[in-house]
Amino acid sequence: MSDLMISIEEKNKQRKTRVSRLKKIIIGSIVFSILFPTILSFFLMVRIISLQEQVDELSKVLLKNEEIGEINKSANLADGVYATELPKEMQMENQSYDAMQVKVEEEEKATIAYLTFDDGPSENTSQILDILKNYDVKATFFVVGKETDEAKALYKRIVDEGHTLGMHSYSHQYSEIYNSVESFAKDEKKLRDLLYESTGVIPTLYRFPGGSNNLVSNIEMTEFIKYLNNENITYFDWNVASGDATSQNISVETLVNNVLNNVEENETSVILMHDALQKNTSVEALSIIIESLQNLGIQMKALDQNVPHVQHIEAETVNN
Ligand SMILES: [Zn+2]
Repeated sequence: MSDLMISIEEKNKQRKTRVSRLKKIIIGSIVFSILFPTILSFFLMVRIISLQEQVDELSKVLLKNEEIGEINKSANLADGVYATELPKEMQMENQSYDAMQVKVEEEEKATIAYLTFDDGPSENTSQILDILKNYDVKATFFVVGKETDEAKALYKRIVDEGHTLGMHSYSHQYSEIYNSVESFAKDEKKLRDLLYESTGVIPTLYRFPGGSNNLVSNIEMTEFIKYLNNENITYFDWNVASGDATSQNISVETLVNNVLNNVEENETSVILMHDALQKNTSVEALSIIIESLQNLGIQMKALDQNVPHVQHIEAETVNN
């Protein structure tokens, strides 16, 4: 009997324990199913608010850019009158945008270089022309007077392949050409006639042997410049020297570096090179110079009278 009582009591106890465990599980599940979504919602809410702020910022920026675009469109039409009609903040924005455009234009100016070859034609001229043709680059040849058939054929080839044929005196003898204006004129006309006979084109560009600021002339260089002005001939010096004038054996590396180190300082670069016997490193350096300039985005063109003049002596002071 007492054994049976104990067993019933024991069973009741066990049931109570089971019920209370079940209660705990049910309450736990209810609490979890309410709390978890609430916490999750809270985090999602915070995330949404931060994203919304980012979207607002972006649309402000977009709107501003669109407005600046519109203003510049109308500015192009109205030619500058717009600035006074805009709120101050917008004017500031617009100014910096304009400054940016000016900067781009300046950079565009700095992307032209004119390769020039003095003293030809020579045994190297054909090879120089081949290289220029290979890269589809135009250049300028300031030539001296040579009466051989080969020389005449080279003058013609220079013109036919789209390069500019300029003059560099017939004789290249400083003592002769710089002796007087008369001897300078005689020499220049002799070369001009030879080039016209050989090519059918009258040359309009000149490069003084030794440059316009040479120290060998017996008389003022301005006298010769006045003569050229009267003949409607434009002279060009250079602002980038490859360094091949001084000796025959300047290394390719030095020539290339001389050009590349100086080209970027100028809006318009007129590069001095030589087309002369034994100046073989000038030919070897040419491909590298062309490729390097092309990699810098610099366009190479042939000179003409409309190119901004690069002159060592101020030309305005000697007109007529
Ligand atoms: Zn020369």
